[in-house]
Amino acid sequence: MKITIVYDNNAKEGLQCGWGFACLIETGKNNILFDTGWDGHLLLENMEKLSIDPQIIDTLVLSHQHWDHIGGVTTFLNINPDVDVYVPSGFSPRLKKEITSRIKKKLYGVSSPREIRDKIYTIGELEKSDTGIKEQSLVLECESGNFVLTGCAHPGLLLILEAAAPFGKINGIIGGLHDSQEYGSFKDMQLIGAGHCTSHKDVIRKMYPEKFQKIYAGYSIEL
Ligand SMILES: [Zn+2]
Ligand SMILES: [Zn+2]
Repeated sequence: MKITIVYDNNAKEGLQCGWGFACLIETGKNNILFDTGWDGHLLLENMEKLSIDPQIIDTLVLSHQHWDHIGGVTTFLNINPDVDVYVPSGFSPRLKKEITSRIKKKLYGVSSPREIRDKIYTIGELEKSDTGIKEQSLVLECESGNFVLTGCAHPGLLLILEAAAPFGKINGIIGGLHDSQEYGSFKDMQLIGAGHCTSHKDVIRKMYPEKFQKIYAGYSIEL
């Protein structure tokens, strides 16, 4: 399974950076776009520079309803409306209606854990009680083990990893880790791919120098 970051606060030379997150998952069977960043044009330009044709994408997953993850949705759907879309069921009903009116396939509101594509699972909608932010993360069942993909990880690492645990041992995590300080959770992982909103990158890098990987638009890994 190949993971390519296409939108992040940081970018490799030649690509554009912007506050937000988006990542492409290529399983061999499906091509899944996880989040869209804020600026759809930046998203599409980065994809073009990475030789990713937006038309190959058959599934769009939105982690949570924050501007820096869903801002690029309309621009992307104008180019490719032929996708199934998975959003946390707590998304605004109006937004769900708007998205539904622009796609040729179906919109799914996610509440509990389920398989969404072969070897791709959502851990379900989680909510951080003090913020009310509802977010879903994915478990990717790769040849080298299970990896968790997060947007911002607002519900907190402990809750996310607990919900991901029933799918099997977690070998690593990729995405935005927000202000998580549950550093012990990374102990048994092989890869900590921290990007986007991760506040404590330096602390994580110092604790786990051989597992830490700073991610950025243009970063790609086969798992
Ligand atoms: Zn967020
Ligand atoms: Zn974010």
